[in-house]
Amino acid sequence: MPIHYNFTKLKDSIESNASSAVKKTGEFIEISKLNLDISCEEKKIDVLYAKIGKKIYAQYMKDRFVNNNFIKYCKEIDEIKYKISSIEKKILKVQNKKICPLCGNELTKNAVYCEHCGFKQKTRKKS
Ligand SMILES: [Zn+2]
Repeated sequence: MPIHYNFTKLKDSIESNASSAVKKTGEFIEISKLNLDISCEEKKIDVLYAKIGKKIYAQYMKDRFVNNNFIKYCKEIDEIKYKISSIEKKILKVQNKKICPLCGNELTKNAVYCEHCGFKQKTRKKS
């Protein structure tokens, strides 16, 4: 076998591997883009699922009744909301503030009247 033939074969082989690598890179980029498209579409579905969930929870809040399959989840949301409100109360305590029971505005803890609606606040006597 002539040396020249081997070099030609080697050169062809390198070129073929290189073009196959380029092809693989192109494929990889194309697939990555398509997977990204799938992720975008899946996010849209998640948003719609969340909308369905919010509608069901709103119905549960209104009627205190929904399909049995959803009650468990609605009650879990109730518990989480309760937890959040406890945490919010802790934040107010740290800030030395309270919420006016009539209008819901934040007041300093020692306020006797609400500065927004004028509602007389319950004052706790110091013991
Ligand atoms: Zn008020």
